[in-house]
Amino acid sequence: MEGALTARDKVGVQDFVLLDAYTSESAFVDNLHKRFSENLIYTYIGTLLVSVNPYQELGIYTMKQMELYQGVNFFELPPHIYAIADNAYRMMCSELNNHFILISGESGAGKTEASKKILQYFAVTCPMTESLQIARDRLLLSNPVLEAFGNAKTLRNDNSSRFGKYMDIQFDFKGQCAKELSINDKNDWKTVSNAFAVIDFTDEDLENLFGIIASVLHLGNIHFKEDNQGCATIPDTHEIKWIAKLLGVLPSVLLDALTHRKIEAKTEEMICPLTLDLSIYARDAMAKAVYGRTFTWLVNKINSSLVNKDFTKKTVIGLLDIYGFEVFDKNGFEQFCINYCNEKLQQLLIERTLKAEQAEYEMEGIEWEPIQYFNNKIICDLVEERHRGIISILDEECIRPGPATDLSFLEKLEEKVGKHAHFQTRKLAGAKGRKRMGWMEFRLFHYAGEVTYCTKGFLEKNNDLLYRHLKEVLCWSKNSILRECFHVAELKNRRRPPTVGTQFKNSLSSLLEILISKEPSYIRCIKPNDGKEPRKFDELLIRHQIKYLGLMEHLRVRRAGFAYRRKYEHFLQRYKSLCPDTWPHWHGRPAEGVQRLIKYIGYKPEEYKLGKTKIFIRFPRTLFATEDAFEFS
Ligand code: ADP
Ligand code: MG
Repeated sequence: MEGALTARDKVGVQDFVLLDAYTSESAFVDNLHKRFSENLIYTYIGTLLVSVNPYQELGIYTMKQMELYQGVNFFELPPHIYAIADNAYRMMCSELNNHFILISGESGAGKTEASKKILQYFAVTCPMTESLQIARDRLLLSNPVLEAFGNAKTLRNDNSSRFGKYMDIQFDFKGQCAKELSINDKNDWKTVSNAFAVIDFTDEDLENLFGIIASVLHLGNIHFKEDNQGCATIPDTHEIKWIAKLLGVLPSVLLDALTHRKIEAKTEEMICPLTLDLSIYARDAMAKAVYGRTFTWLVNKINSSLVNKDFTKKTVIGLLDIYGFEVFDKNGFEQFCINYCNEKLQQLLIERTLKAEQAEYEMEGIEWEPIQYFNNKIICDLVEERHRGIISILDEECIRPGPATDLSFLEKLEEKVGKHAHFQTRKLAGAKGRKRMGWMEFRLFHYAGEVTYCTKGFLEKNNDLLYRHLKEVLCWSKNSILRECFHVAELKNRRRPPTVGTQFKNSLSSLLEILISKEPSYIRCIKPNDGKEPRKFDELLIRHQIKYLGLMEHLRVRRAGFAYRRKYEHFLQRYKSLCPDTWPHWHGRPAEGVQRLIKYIGYKPEEYKLGKTKIFIRFPRTLFATEDAFEFS
């Protein structure tokens, strides 16, 4: 806190909670801009860290910096990602509790860099046993592996295949052993193939894995033609031969499976040809299934190489790197899922913050004043409620017999959730609709603003059915990874697998369960411009992100009561020179010393409250006045 407070005109405040106009977005942007101009990329909102990607090396990740932040109280040094990392580690040690760090922001905002910095901090500063060191090294190395894989260009129209990454770092809960500082030149990241070796990949694994990736790329090159019966054919079988070789299957079988489908009548199986559209659909579904399941296999493989068997009683720090709220000109099923995920995470954060504030006030014996805020549970319910929410309605349309289309899905939505205050379509909006909408579109009013989704492709993407025929091909593949990903047992199970929307909802709910059980830290990453340029602050772009990251709402909740709170000892230590009673030494209780001090400098009753161990100051200006007095004393 100290130090930087006084230069605040130039470098801004290092905690947004100290902004006088804390509800003003302009004041927020202004503060961020001031700091960014001074290469100060980190700013707090209470314990949440806001980070702006500098797109240049700032020399702030040195060993010296790491040492500086070790074991220091959160607010005693300028904001830094190391403070978050150190805090997470200490919380974990002192409370023997799990902890998680959630990193969000849009693509290019600096999420992956942030998680690397945290891992490096742990690698250098945390005392570890030998087996933990191995696990840690594997984790550091698995990061580039996952990244290389997760960012691979796969399907056409999909230039950034994204994934949410959740890593657990296991620690010896006692936090003992010799200090390990020898890893300092590890920030020179090794190559991906090198990393594979450390995480126990055999040459065969590697060959199989790269074969799969290559086959997915080749799949995108398969072109279909229509014969005069309207059935799909593949005139050029060159690619088929390649893919069959890479996947270890027979070319004729693969070709057949891409252009035909098996239909099960009561007792027999029928083979019927696919239309052109359905063949394209089958091809894309195959690429997605192969890629998706292989990625899951890879994550599992890395996780099992990380499992540390020596420790029964383990505590964990989780790192979650997740894609942020997305709004494009055209938004489809993917944006719908991503934004729903962010809606849920926002809800968790707001509830957590409110609870933490409330708990602190109670502990300090200070009266709690209710806070006005927007509870976005209502939007989460609109999306996920069983039988009534959008995902359920979509599933019903996918499952029901008879011709269901994206348009009939939209009509069902109008019928079932049309009255919901956060839902709109062109028909419902009528002539008074605020902005023009297409016939195929619906609009949701998210916490971060309104988003218009086009229902085109919703049914197909939600279904994402891999035809049985193709599944068989993959089950009998010679590629051992594929055989692990596609079990023969699956073929016996005739029940319909859950839809993509429902799977997403279920995995999100298990993720939230994990998050709720741990102590959270948050890092919000902001991309300053679209050109990857250093020192360029694109205000409009940044305003959008502030909105999408829910920062103003978070600040409002955090600032509802008091801008500043400090332990009596610390407050007294800093300002004791301002009062003759407390200077140079105060021998009584710190709380009493603070009372004398603030009486002497003239705090008004409405400006502060005294808790059991802390002083709470309502307005930043009170604190700044004290700080100025201190500077000139
Ligand atoms: P994301 O994971 O959010 O998509 P990255 O973490 O990959 O974004 O960051 C994109 C690029 O921005 C990095 O490759 C790096 O060049 C730059 N960058 C991000 N964070 C920092 C930082 N703290 N310091 C310097 N450069 C950074
Ligand atoms: Mg990333």
